[in-house]
Amino acid sequence: MDLGIKGRRAIVCASSKGLGRGVAEKLAEAGVDLTLNARTESTLKATADAIAGKYGVKVQIVAEDVTTEAGRQALLQAEPQPDILINNAGGPPPGVWSDWGEEEWLKAINNNMLTPILLMKAILPGMIERKWGRVVNITSGSVKSPIAQLGLSNAARSGLTGFVAGTSRQVARHGVIINNLLPGSHDTDRTKGFIERSAKEKGISIEEARKEAYADNPAGRYGTAEEFGAAAAFLCSQYSGFIVGQNLLLDGGAFNSTLG
Ligand code: NAP
Repeated sequence: MDLGIKGRRAIVCASSKGLGRGVAEKLAEAGVDLTLNARTESTLKATADAIAGKYGVKVQIVAEDVTTEAGRQALLQAEPQPDILINNAGGPPPGVWSDWGEEEWLKAINNNMLTPILLMKAILPGMIERKWGRVVNITSGSVKSPIAQLGLSNAARSGLTGFVAGTSRQVARHGVIINNLLPGSHDTDRTKGFIERSAKEKGISIEEARKEAYADNPAGRYGTAEEFGAAAAFLCSQYSGFIVGQNLLLDGGAFNSTLG
């Protein structure tokens, strides 16, 4: 299917690996020129070279921390007029409610709520003026179904979700479409770390821990970055203009409900 976005330009935050890279690959496959971002220049450059080589699109990199004002300014300077914005950053650490003080809360709120909001604030006026824009925020299934040990994520991302719910409905009439994608468990470096920790805690092998984790999911596995990227690319397509302010859960059916 031609997504109708060939020649469009996208900023993909936190995209040298994992879900962000999955989205970058699928946008590139649709012919979108990319500005990729991550903190580590070497992996970012390798990803950019691989994507440019495979899909023949223009790819530039901004090796900065997107959760800082300086990092965001560098991104906006490199690509001041993106048609597509993919908001993403690393997730907060696990813990227990009693672990987190003001410093930890401010960091989580900055990284997973304010950073995407500030990027949208900077980019939406240009999209509105040009009467076309797509924003996809990578949040988490934890917004819908809390993961107790990820309380920082549950809360900060819920704040972002509330902002998107109202704002997406204010900008849709200008051809600017904002939605959230909620990953359940996907095979990336982040979940590899969780599985390794679980193996250590239970005194079992990593393979056994992985089998257990997969068995808990109705699909019998974790999602792939490719599947995630394809869903995001559709939400950035010419055909997503009537999908407004939605929260699409990609979790293999792990969230058990009949509706919603
Ligand atoms: P990942 O495989 O660890 O990849 C993270 C990517 O983000 C890397 O490219 C990393 O590169 C970059 N990054 C991290 N912090 C950054 C920052 N401050 N500024 C710029 N780039 C940054 O993680 P993932 O699994 O794809 O997860 C992506 C997001 O989805 C996270 O917020 C995670 O909590 C959320 N999520 C993931 C899952 C899952 O199952 N994978 C489920 C629910 C939610 P550098 O380290 O070089 O910066």
